[in-house]
Amino acid sequence: MKQLHPNNIHNQDYDFDVLLSNNPELSEHVIEQYGKKSIDFSNHESVRVLNKSLLSTYYGIKYWDFSLQNLTPPIPSRVDYIHHLSDLVSKSSAKVLDIGTGASCIYPLLGHSVNEWTFVGTDVDINSIKTAQNIISKNQLEQSISLRHQKDSTQILIGILRDDDSFDVSMCNPPFYKSDKEAQNHNRRKNKNLKTPTKRNFGGMRSELIYEGGEHRFLNTYLYESSFYKDKCSWFTSLVSRKEGVKSLEKSASKLNFNRFKVIPMKHGNKTTRIVCWGG
Ligand code: SAH
Repeated sequence: MKQLHPNNIHNQDYDFDVLLSNNPELSEHVIEQYGKKSIDFSNHESVRVLNKSLLSTYYGIKYWDFSLQNLTPPIPSRVDYIHHLSDLVSKSSAKVLDIGTGASCIYPLLGHSVNEWTFVGTDVDINSIKTAQNIISKNQLEQSISLRHQKDSTQILIGILRDDDSFDVSMCNPPFYKSDKEAQNHNRRKNKNLKTPTKRNFGGMRSELIYEGGEHRFLNTYLYESSFYKDKCSWFTSLVSRKEGVKSLEKSASKLNFNRFKVIPMKHGNKTTRIVCWGG
């Protein structure tokens, strides 16, 4: 058991026989490890092909192509956020705002497949928006997923939300690092533990990983801006990777007169993280 949400189908080991029969391309990447089929998880391309197979086999997503320079999101933990939001929203036809959807458009694709939710995805990176739009079109999901470009990289909701918008929930996997230097240092540490060091594990372009001021500043801006839009979204949520960030968010949410605040813990293997939720 991997301690994912009970509804997450990835709580069990991957069934490589099923995946291989669905996507023969995967056979080039499968290796034998401890008598079981696996892939080399430090090889970015192998991870990308595995993820494509998972999306096509379990989520009906037949096209998912984007540059290897972009971040390759792991499917089990991304879909976990969706399952936890289902508990929070408990509504069958929710409308969701995904802040920083990325080139992969991963949350809208999963959320639509699992719950038939409709999504608006945002990003500052115009190339990511174009790539995500191509994925949406190729999967014929234009009716369910639309995108908006954030033109000011310092803003999160301002410039995105419109007068007639109404969302049940917003979600976000925020950029993590304060600077190039911080990203490189982290990567160097990570590479020490890998057999085949990569330039950046799972890729990721500068703007995908870095926000001036880091995760802390991003979250504070998001929270502050959300106070202008209390009537436009029932719950605002975000992943918060640093546990220490939660207390200050709670304090700020209370100062901004939000009357709901909630933390949903998540455990993915030996990594713990959390979804912070607020609403007013
Ligand atoms: N949701 C994807 C990508 C997360 S990476 C996933 O979970 O894999 C963070 C994303 O936020 C990047 O795509 C980056 O371009 C975007 N981003 C950075 N600043 C932003 C802002 N102010 N508004 C919207 N998106 C932003």
